[in-house]
Amino acid sequence: MMLKIVIMGPAGSGKGTMSDLIADNYPVKHISTGNMFREEIRNNTELGQKANSYITQGKLVPDDVTVAMVKNRLSQEDCKDGYLLDGFPRSLVQAEAIKDLGINVVINLKIDENLLVDRIVYRRMCEDCKAIYNIKLNPLKDEEHCEVCGGKLYQRSDDTYEKLMVRLESYTEETQPVVDYYRKRGVVYDVDAGQSIEDVYKQIDQILTKIMEEKSI
Ligand code: AMP
Repeated sequence: MMLKIVIMGPAGSGKGTMSDLIADNYPVKHISTGNMFREEIRNNTELGQKANSYITQGKLVPDDVTVAMVKNRLSQEDCKDGYLLDGFPRSLVQAEAIKDLGINVVINLKIDENLLVDRIVYRRMCEDCKAIYNIKLNPLKDEEHCEVCGGKLYQRSDDTYEKLMVRLESYTEETQPVVDYYRKRGVVYDVDAGQSIEDVYKQIDQILTKIMEEKSI
């Protein structure tokens, strides 16, 4: 049995940061629908043009477009040993659309909403390698460039206070039901995401180590 992980949590809960750490340590390919959409927008593709207006408003891209993109991505060779879905599924329609995949672990990042504002408003992302930084919470010597690859850092168009509020509302209304959906199926593991990067990852590492031992995945 291979690891088929979904990581869930509101904007700023640490999905991207934790996904990078998990993918460094477990046999899973990190698939971020947000990163995929941003790459399409950067390359000005038809899909990118379609997604752009939704993303800049903080709204969800329509399910049919998103599901098709993810299914296509998962059929590629680099996902065959396991994957980690970050930012998908975000609605019940999307969860139903991939029910045959047999998702076996859902990491649910739980966090007090008050902590999210600083995490989002001061977030910066590398244009090239997609590394994530926070210039207030973990100050950088050089706020313009990525410490990993030297790429240019930028602020996402949806990382403003106003857009965060829209994204949190969409999380409560459309995505929280997905957590409940997986909870009924017994695959949800709750994590306290309000701690430091190191301490949040420690919890996830313990969960995944235990699952791999128990199920000899
Ligand atoms: P993220 O990088 O995961 O915060 O995603 C950024 C934005 O991309 C979201 O606010 C949505 O507009 C869009 N997006 C990402 N994943 C999905 C999804 N599964 N369904 C619909 N829209 C998505």
